[in-house]
Amino acid sequence: MGVPQGRRALIVGSGFGGLSTAIRLLSDGWQVSILEARGEIGGRASRIREGGYTFDTGPSLITMPWLFEEVFAAAGEKMSDHVTLRQLQPGYRIFWTGEDRHFDFGSDQEALRDEMRKFSAADAAQLDAFIAASGDIHRKGILVSGRQNFLKLADFVKLLPTMAKLDAIRFLEGWVSKFFKEPHVQQAFGFHSLFIGGDPSRVPAIYSALAYLQIADGIWYAEGGVYSIIEAFGKIVKKMGGSISLNSKVDQILHRGGRAVGVRTADGTIHDADLVIYNGDVTARDALLPDLPDLFPWRLRPLRTTMSAHMMYLGTNRKFEKLLHHTLVVGDDYHGFIKDVTRDRRMPRSNAVYIHAPSRTEPAMAPEGGDSIAILLPVPNLRSGDDWSEAEQRMRDRTLSWLEDWGLPGLRESIVVERSWTPLTFRDELLAPDGNAFAVEPSLQQSAYFRHPNRDRALSGLYYVGGGTHPGAGMPGALLTSQVTQDLIRDDYRGPFSSRASGPTGNLVAP
Ligand SMILES: Cc1cc2nc3c(=O)[nH]c(=O)nc-3n(C[C@H](O)[C@H](O)[C@H](O)COP(=O)(O)OP(=O)(O)OC[C@H]3O[C@@H](n4cnc5c(N)ncnc54)[C@H](O)[C@@H]3O)c2cc1C
Repeated sequence: MGVPQGRRALIVGSGFGGLSTAIRLLSDGWQVSILEARGEIGGRASRIREGGYTFDTGPSLITMPWLFEEVFAAAGEKMSDHVTLRQLQPGYRIFWTGEDRHFDFGSDQEALRDEMRKFSAADAAQLDAFIAASGDIHRKGILVSGRQNFLKLADFVKLLPTMAKLDAIRFLEGWVSKFFKEPHVQQAFGFHSLFIGGDPSRVPAIYSALAYLQIADGIWYAEGGVYSIIEAFGKIVKKMGGSISLNSKVDQILHRGGRAVGVRTADGTIHDADLVIYNGDVTARDALLPDLPDLFPWRLRPLRTTMSAHMMYLGTNRKFEKLLHHTLVVGDDYHGFIKDVTRDRRMPRSNAVYIHAPSRTEPAMAPEGGDSIAILLPVPNLRSGDDWSEAEQRMRDRTLSWLEDWGLPGLRESIVVERSWTPLTFRDELLAPDGNAFAVEPSLQQSAYFRHPNRDRALSGLYYVGGGTHPGAGMPGALLTSQVTQDLIRDDYRGPFSSRASGPTGNLVAP
């Protein structure tokens, strides 16, 4: 029995944005098919399993767990029946090379104050003021704007006075320095935008909400890794009657009479649809619609993509006790490092890494006595012109020898399983044109109205979800994009479910 015309939604890509949109649209009565280019679902949030070691390839640090709950709830399911979340305390430890003190960041405010006191009693006394101000930004900025579409400039302009009043439009680093003066404390409270590819000296202080959320709501771990959430979403999509086709790369979005009517996959197959929702990198949009370029002059310039990441996934035959579940190690010249990989787009001259060692919390993530260690080194995206077929080995040796000197002696000789992702993986596997790790930069000029729209400006029936759209990247951001886009589709189709068989509605015209 064929699917009735008028209610077929086709989703290109199975990242957090694509899968959560599928669940939401299925619950609204749409027939949903997902076409995924790779051989597995999850996108950046994939999994590598080898020799008894399990690695999350990308995201590992969970914040705003209720946003995941909401997606399960949209399907009439309870998250706890599918995934077990455990709170991490502390969330992560920050080390600086050449510095004896470390900083444990977490949601226990007394413990946090103690950590701050190790560096500055005056700064510790400012913690409450920081939490109050960043909490305000979170409530009046993120909670209000994160679920709203910004297709109209007027809506963005309306938000500006509130943001200006909260001083959230100035750059994050400057905002944090209003509260804290000691450089380590400033870094500990001001680096969080890097989690979504944003340079703290250039993103608006609205991103101070990321630090606030970690303090207010905690930092969480999903048993089995983040991929267990992806697996649960995938299962639910199928249970609700949706389909997922792997190894199905979409190379063209098809349109007729000003509206999207389906896609063509690389093998030449045409897939008809009444709605197309694109979850791939938004900067690839024009290549999929060559005859209908994005109407971006309103944005004044093309979107600027984020930095990339060199990921090293190491299975070791011994444990490295110095590592917590999440550890950051910051080398000399923190600011120079960020400038190199973001603004200047050059190979970093110093080092700074984020390390995920989940077997601290869940021993089954590595064979007994070993560690599964994922190391994230931020690097420039491919616009730097670096040749990663040559650079990978050099950067791998440099990073691992630096880590050995810092405090993981014998790391290299303990490796029994080794895999990696480089900017080439982000370009060739995840189909991010610049090999960028986190979609487009979260700068003010690329936020809300100025970000890639959740509904296409040139073609009706074409929508977007995922890190490149509003409100932005990170797992919570990607989940929110699916809600913003679901609301747009509901508006365009007037009501939670409407079939074009009962007549075109909203801005849609029959093909
Ligand atoms: C190394 C790393 C660490 C991170 N750490 C964290 C973290 O700790 N916490 C956090 O919250 N976030 C983190 N993030 C960010 C988070 O992973 C992403 O923002 C989020 O997973 C992106 O989801 P998405 O919906 O944009 O889809 P993506 O994950 O980008 O997936 C898009 C999917 O679309 C597919 N696709 C693209 N084009 C096509 C096409 N033409 N045809 C068919 N399929 C296509 C791709 O193959 C891919 O599967 C991290 C990201 C990275 C890279």
